Amino acid sequence: MSVELKSVSKTYKNVKALDNVNLSINKGEFFVILGPSGSGKTTLLRAVAGLERVESGRIILDGKDITDLPPHKREVAMVFQNYALYPHKTVLENLLMPVEGEMKREEAVKLARDMASMLGIGDLLSRFPSELSGGQQQRVALARALVKRPKVFLMDEPLSNLDAIQRVSARKLIRDVQRENEITTLYVTHDQVEAMALADRIAIMNQGRVIQMGTPEEIYSRVEDEFVATFFGNPPMSLVSGKVLDLRGRIGVRPEDVELGQGDMKGKVTDVEFWGDRYLVYISVEGEEIRAFYPYRLRIGEEVRFKFRKYAGPWS
Ligand code: ADP
Ligand code: MG
Repeated sequence: MSVELKSVSKTYKNVKALDNVNLSINKGEFFVILGPSGSGKTTLLRAVAGLERVESGRIILDGKDITDLPPHKREVAMVFQNYALYPHKTVLENLLMPVEGEMKREEAVKLARDMASMLGIGDLLSRFPSELSGGQQQRVALARALVKRPKVFLMDEPLSNLDAIQRVSARKLIRDVQRENEITTLYVTHDQVEAMALADRIAIMNQGRVIQMGTPEEIYSRVEDEFVATFFGNPPMSLVSGKVLDLRGRIGVRPEDVELGQGDMKGKVTDVEFWGDRYLVYISVEGEEIRAFYPYRLRIGEEVRFKFRKYAGPWS
């Protein structure tokens, strides 16, 4: 199912949580909404789920206007950050909740078992949520959403309660399940590494607005906006005054686009971090800080020459 948002706005008291948002998500696409806390991501998902009324604009599912439909009439399922499992119900009972009264119990149990085994929690069905690890609870929440057989999957930072190692395996699992079932997915995160790893396309949000949209590769190679520069890439671009290149405004430079050891610019090494296959070097130039990758460890205080292979901007 395709999902379309047309000029969607939503204001809380004096906060514009969504400011004229336009998105067009293709059938089967894994679409990531990336933005810092407070940028409107949750509001956007809740609007698509029907949990939040929008004040203007339309929401279209497969060509059908669902703006005024109640949540249960929309064929979407939402997975929340805090899983929201029922503590006094077993895993199996949790999985059956969304389809209660909609099919024969036998049939529902079979479906629940299938989803559970797909997510590797088939042997946990008689446990209670308190008897599960965070990662297992998260799988239960995913399985529960899948039992609904949604046409659209809405996920609101579903991995943020997991530790770093669990996150990497869980995001692979989500991606596999999404692909296998070809479920159109809107996935919200503030983590750009997660966004790049998962997304077919990304929309970057700030203050209720979509400020750049594209495939991870497109956004990475063509940063259109100073805010995106500070937010995308690991580590993100260094923002420096255009003066260093005789330009007005500010420019953004990725650490891998700084060529150390030659060039017209000169700076001093102020810090070095070991990154495994290379070092991240901090260089100070006329009060500006530039980060650069380099294959060898440099000494702090050392003078270095460098040039930029490319940069984004300038932005005023
Ligand atoms: P995100 O999920 O990106 O962190 P939210 O969609 O939760 O952002 O919030 C967007 C903005 O709307 C924030 O400024 C937030 O404080 C505000 N907001 C969200 N929900 C409410 C609410 N129920 N009442 C008032 N303000 C809200
Ligand atoms: Mg949120």
